[in-house]
Amino acid sequence: MHLDAFELHQPATVEEALAIASAHPGRFDFLAGGTDLLPNYKMHLNLRPQLISLDRVQELRAFRPEQGWIGSMVRLRELESSPTLRERHTALAQAASEVATPLVRASGTVGGNLLVETRCFFFNQSQPWREALGFCLKADGDRCHVVPQKERCYATFSGDLAPALMVLGARVEVAGSSGRRRLPVAELYDPKGDGIRRTLLAPGEVLVGVEVPKGDGRERSNYAKLRVRPSFDFPELGVAAALTMKDGRVERLEIALGGLEARPRLMRKETEPLVGERLTEERVRTLSEEVRRSVRPVHNTYLAPDYRRKMTGVFVRRALLALRPST
Ligand SMILES: Cc1cc2nc3c(=O)[nH]c(=O)nc-3n(C[C@H](O)[C@H](O)[C@H](O)COP(=O)(O)OP(=O)(O)OC[C@H]3O[C@@H](n4cnc5c(N)ncnc54)[C@H](O)[C@@H]3O)c2cc1C
Ligand code: SF4
Repeated sequence: MHLDAFELHQPATVEEALAIASAHPGRFDFLAGGTDLLPNYKMHLNLRPQLISLDRVQELRAFRPEQGWIGSMVRLRELESSPTLRERHTALAQAASEVATPLVRASGTVGGNLLVETRCFFFNQSQPWREALGFCLKADGDRCHVVPQKERCYATFSGDLAPALMVLGARVEVAGSSGRRRLPVAELYDPKGDGIRRTLLAPGEVLVGVEVPKGDGRERSNYAKLRVRPSFDFPELGVAAALTMKDGRVERLEIALGGLEARPRLMRKETEPLVGERLTEERVRTLSEEVRRSVRPVHNTYLAPDYRRKMTGVFVRRALLALRPST
């Protein structure tokens, strides 16, 4: 595997990055830590001839966890070692600490993690391997090997941070040619999209950073991940949960899942009915079962879909029992 030649741009501001992007429509990628993009390039997956590195854009490196601000170029290592995040936003620090290996976390960034390419057993392969099979919809081909009768891609969203940021109620700031906007992390991912068109970002938009609500210190959260090799692998399932109680009843409860479908999902429909209720063991069991029933993994990662679905229920139950105040 080798890296083909590309032209590297190194803008110093977000505005410069946007201008370079608009000069090369459809022919560029933004480059953050490169820990996902460059291995994919080496496998000749959707190469672009222009790379716009965000490494010199100082604005994107701002890290002010006490004020709830995390720039998109902040490294995962900084998140996992932040005492403020560990204490106030445990799910986020835990999720960061579970990405890949220490070496990858030293380069991998928050923005790159939120926009990480979706994964599939038939996609994350070398060019000769894919060619032998006739390629697929997501790169160079016109059919899907996982669900052949559909013209959709079912590649799995396998970033760890998104579910954690979703349950914490975080918002991303996005910069584009028409200005800047903020939207909830949960709304960054396209509910009508698939493994190819996965976010609602317009072409050429830059992710500037993430705003995490500071809260009043009562919220508790956690993140747990199922993977084949615990020291290395992408999630086969990621479960984030956040809980705030008041007078023994649920004030706020969020659960978000990753590693199962083409986008991470906030399970608001399932959790909302519990607001104002006591979080008994029976309710936890019922909710875990509802969440388990609603997920639809397909057979394109290492572990079987049935097993991942079953473990979804187990992980949700464990997460909530761990967050629940002991009575
Ligand atoms: C061995 C190995 C194991 C891994 N395991 C995991 C894992 O367990 N969990 C996990 O979540 N990830 C894993 N990864 C993937 C990756 O390392 C992380 O997701 C990392 O956080 C990606 O960040 P990056 O800065 O390297 O992104 P890059 O590779 O630089 O970029 C990823 C994508 O995001 C886009 N992008 C990046 N920043 C911006 C921005 N600010 N604005 C607009 N677009 C942007 C890029 O154009 C590209 O499409 C693994 C990678 C390796 C090599
Ligand atoms: S789900 Fe289908 S189209 Fe998508 S990457 Fe896998 S084989 Fe390709």
